[in-house]
Amino acid sequence: MGSVSNKAEQLQRKIVQAEKELQDLRKQLAELESPTLHADVDQGLGSTSDLSESTKDLPEWKWPLREEEYLRYGRQLILPTVGIKGQLNLKSTAVLIVGAGGLGCPAAAYLAGAGVGTLGIVDGDTVEMSNLHRQIAHSTSRVGMMKVDSLIEYCNGLNPEVAYAPHREHLTPQNAESIVSKYDLVLDCTDHPTSRYLISDICVLLQKTLVSASALRTDGQLIVLNNPPAAQGATDGGPCYRCVFPKPPPADSVVSCGEGGILGPVVGVMGVLQALEAIKLIAAGTGKPAISIPKEPVNPSLLLFSATSSTPFRSIRMRSRRPNCFACSPGSTLTLKELNSGSLDYVQFCGVTSPVNVLKPEERITAKEYNDILAKQSSKKHLLLDVREREHFNIASIPGAINVPFSTLQSRNKLTPNDENSRPEYIPESLPDDAPIFVVCRVGNDSQLATQRLKEMGLDGGGGRFVGDIKGGMLAWKHEVDKTLPFT
Ligand SMILES: [Zn+2]
Repeated sequence: MGSVSNKAEQLQRKIVQAEKELQDLRKQLAELESPTLHADVDQGLGSTSDLSESTKDLPEWKWPLREEEYLRYGRQLILPTVGIKGQLNLKSTAVLIVGAGGLGCPAAAYLAGAGVGTLGIVDGDTVEMSNLHRQIAHSTSRVGMMKVDSLIEYCNGLNPEVAYAPHREHLTPQNAESIVSKYDLVLDCTDHPTSRYLISDICVLLQKTLVSASALRTDGQLIVLNNPPAAQGATDGGPCYRCVFPKPPPADSVVSCGEGGILGPVVGVMGVLQALEAIKLIAAGTGKPAISIPKEPVNPSLLLFSATSSTPFRSIRMRSRRPNCFACSPGSTLTLKELNSGSLDYVQFCGVTSPVNVLKPEERITAKEYNDILAKQSSKKHLLLDVREREHFNIASIPGAINVPFSTLQSRNKLTPNDENSRPEYIPESLPDDAPIFVVCRVGNDSQLATQRLKEMGLDGGGGRFVGDIKGGMLAWKHEVDKTLPFT
């Protein structure tokens, strides 16, 4: 069976590759044919000396768009929001999408469909199976492919008229200027605070308007920043990301889609709204520069989306630029040179720490060691606390484990040690005072903090009871003990 599915996968890849080559050939042919025609048209019908028989009889084309463009964009051309001027603006604009994931896929698809001139896409990741429920431009047959290439393949199928520019790397302080400077408008479709501050800073420095969105679990937010894109220090420019969020969220509250979960349509809604904002901005502009400076100052608003709320959309009016903003205020010391040099540490600024390492080696056991304990004694002689969120626990857990989500554990008030009434409800009454307590989480970070917390609560009986964690969490359990475990 394995070899059959491998063979099928190989064939699928070959088909994708062949289709891509065919597309490229068609595009090359189209490019080769269209400039000749345009050159002839430009010269007027008088100079027909080297015209082929087939083009000689064509009447002069006197319209600003090509014939197929009227067909392709007809439905949006007749809208007052777009019109012929808006369509020409779109065609002359270069848009950069940072992140080819859940936001980037729908945003790129709609911008490609609308006919922007150039669409640049930045991402250093490859397509994974777990991406597909929300990153709809990728496909099962393209798992393992660079996301940038997969997304461009999808968009090219949708609209080969657009020029696509792949940037197969993550945006860094070092490459940000050279990439972003080529574009007129930027869409932040990433999923981490570190990249949000970097993208905002480079957009301030290069005076680019930024459409920023984020989504997690069932919620999303959207804001258009640096609009109008006035120079650093100018008070008539729109606020930047740092004006709205001067401080990053506490590092331990930052969860990625991998840990916090995400509902596909939620991130889809936000990505579609980003494309919509981008199209509105470009179509309303003067063309050069792509995003025009409005006469009246624009008061930006932060759009909040909550899929589970009875009023899913709410809008909050934001202030203009913050007078003491680190990036865009008159007193700002942020420069391109400083950014390029890498002296600004975004990872440190966001307090994103490397894996937690707070327990001593003797306070930790391996998954295999815990499995041996489980084989020798019943779970009544010890306690295993699983501190993942309930949804993770409900998918798969170790036999006998009790679920106490880390968030619950964190929010509990300190207990007085040795107080009879202080036994938390998740510690069974029948558990002997010296029975060890083991803690497990997803990958072995929260379990260390939970172990510390339990000790602070006095549950180690002043050293009389072992309290420790399983190194590497459920991921280690999957590798070392139970390969069948569905890891989420
Ligand atoms: Zn600012």
